[in-house]
Amino acid sequence: MPVKQAQFVISNSDPAKCPAPDRPEYAFIGRSNVGKSSLINMLTSRTSLAKISGKPGKTQLINHFLIDNEWYLVDLPGYGYAQVSKTERDKFAALINGYLTTRSNLLCTFVLVDSRIAPQKIDLDFMTNLGEQGIPFVIVMTKSEKLSATKLQATLEQYRATLLETWEEAPQIIVTSAITAAGREEVLALIHSLNKE
Ligand code: GDP
Repeated sequence: MPVKQAQFVISNSDPAKCPAPDRPEYAFIGRSNVGKSSLINMLTSRTSLAKISGKPGKTQLINHFLIDNEWYLVDLPGYGYAQVSKTERDKFAALINGYLTTRSNLLCTFVLVDSRIAPQKIDLDFMTNLGEQGIPFVIVMTKSEKLSATKLQATLEQYRATLLETWEEAPQIIVTSAITAAGREEVLALIHSLNKE
């Protein structure tokens, strides 16, 4: 079911100031430049709901969007931008952790990874942290149209094998592309099914 309405609600740097947790909520996070803004725009069929930035590491706020008056889509700051100071990184980690651990209506976090890049420690550590805190998540592979079907399959297998070193069962992986809109139905179907639970 495509998104009909998408509206920006609020940006803030304090999890306590997020909108009342009165609707199911889904957060999107990943390394800077992974394609998060493009994915959010693709999912909501908008061209510029989330700003596609030429400058990685810019969004340092928690951005809430209300979708179809039914659920919140949350654009979290991108992590792992090398040119950010340790102080900034610590501030970021505190912001994200504060958000992830206090948001009672957060039903699933979508962790974005670039399908062209082998599994990275920073992403795997982030997922382990989510698992340890009991925060449900799904992995979203971005930019998949850049890979041939064979290469994509190999990448998925590599990811699953790496994940199985830590996880008893590999977390779900959804393959997407902001260019071809691959994965849109799968992500939205998951959201809609969780909304109904
Ligand atoms: P963010 O920093 O994670 O929000 O990433 P952006 O959405 O701003 O995208 C970073 C760069 O990747 C931009 O140059 C996008 O045009 C490009 N990009 C994003 N998604 C895709 C995709 O699905 N396919 C391709 N080929 N490029 C993409």
